[in-house]
Amino acid sequence: MGLVKDILYKASKRSFLRKVNKQNVFPYYHIIEDHTLDHIKNLYSYKNKAQFSYDIDVLKQHYKPITPQDLLSGNYGDNCFLLSFDDGLKEIYTNIYPILKEKGVKGVFFINPQFVDNKEGLYKHYASIILSHIDREGLSKEQLEKVCSVFGFNCNTLERFKLELKGIPFSEREKLQSVFEILNLDIKDYLEKEEPYITRSQIKEMIDDGFYFGGHTMSHPPLHQLSFEEQKNEIIASMEWLKVHFGIDYSLFSFPFSDRSISKKLIEALFEYDSNIIIFGNSGLKQDIDDRIIQRFNLEKPDKQVEKQIVTENLYKYYNKIIGKYKINRS
Ligand SMILES: [Zn+2]
Repeated sequence: MGLVKDILYKASKRSFLRKVNKQNVFPYYHIIEDHTLDHIKNLYSYKNKAQFSYDIDVLKQHYKPITPQDLLSGNYGDNCFLLSFDDGLKEIYTNIYPILKEKGVKGVFFINPQFVDNKEGLYKHYASIILSHIDREGLSKEQLEKVCSVFGFNCNTLERFKLELKGIPFSEREKLQSVFEILNLDIKDYLEKEEPYITRSQIKEMIDDGFYFGGHTMSHPPLHQLSFEEQKNEIIASMEWLKVHFGIDYSLFSFPFSDRSISKKLIEALFEYDSNIIIFGNSGLKQDIDDRIIQRFNLEKPDKQVEKQIVTENLYKYYNKIIGKYKINRS
């Protein structure tokens, strides 16, 4: 959270929630899990199952749950909520899906087809696996020098290396394979044993049960590091993959990392692909250039009170209105 949001969070009261439920909210998460996971733990923290169940209770108390179908047909009112989940991690099936069913709430799951079935993984997750491995096993001076030379890092301390590794560009992700080798880390074995990602049969079961899936690009690149054509292909191919494999007839998509750098031209290309598409960003309670773009906020921070967090997002909306940043500009 930024400085302004931190101040607003401190100023917010749980009881304010009753006053700010006049608009729709679209909270999103990546994962709900009770344990620590090597592929996530160096990237962000997340809630456990009990915290997630509580979040849903709070949301249901103040907002009306809608289905993705309601969203696609535009058939919903004014104080509604719909949950969505990015990155297609296994726990959407093992943890989130059962809780949503128990609570009678639907959701949208955005996946990267390249990782479905666990043949390969997201490069940021790979970086986290490497850092978890180093935390456990240590790293010799010789190994540190070797891994730094793979990327050309000028890193003489372990802390510096950790930062550099988390920030490598998408185009350098293949080099992580050399790091696995230097560290004697068997990534295929990790993917096979841990199965970090959802499988096709799990997706099918959830779709058959009335849950909705959308694309999140094929391989989760930071889109600003790609050309316009590459961006478009990564996005459309991920939705096509779902259509081909599961026969779905709708188009849902969420931007990986952030929608901040996304051009108007790209948005228009997606509307051209399917004029009924619904696109999800993660810029908070803001208004985008078209009603088919839904802006979401992250609700997965485990150390924040959910009521206060939703209030904070609303206060931040008013702040953005005052400073003229409520409406998103795209060029
Ligand atoms: Zn993502």
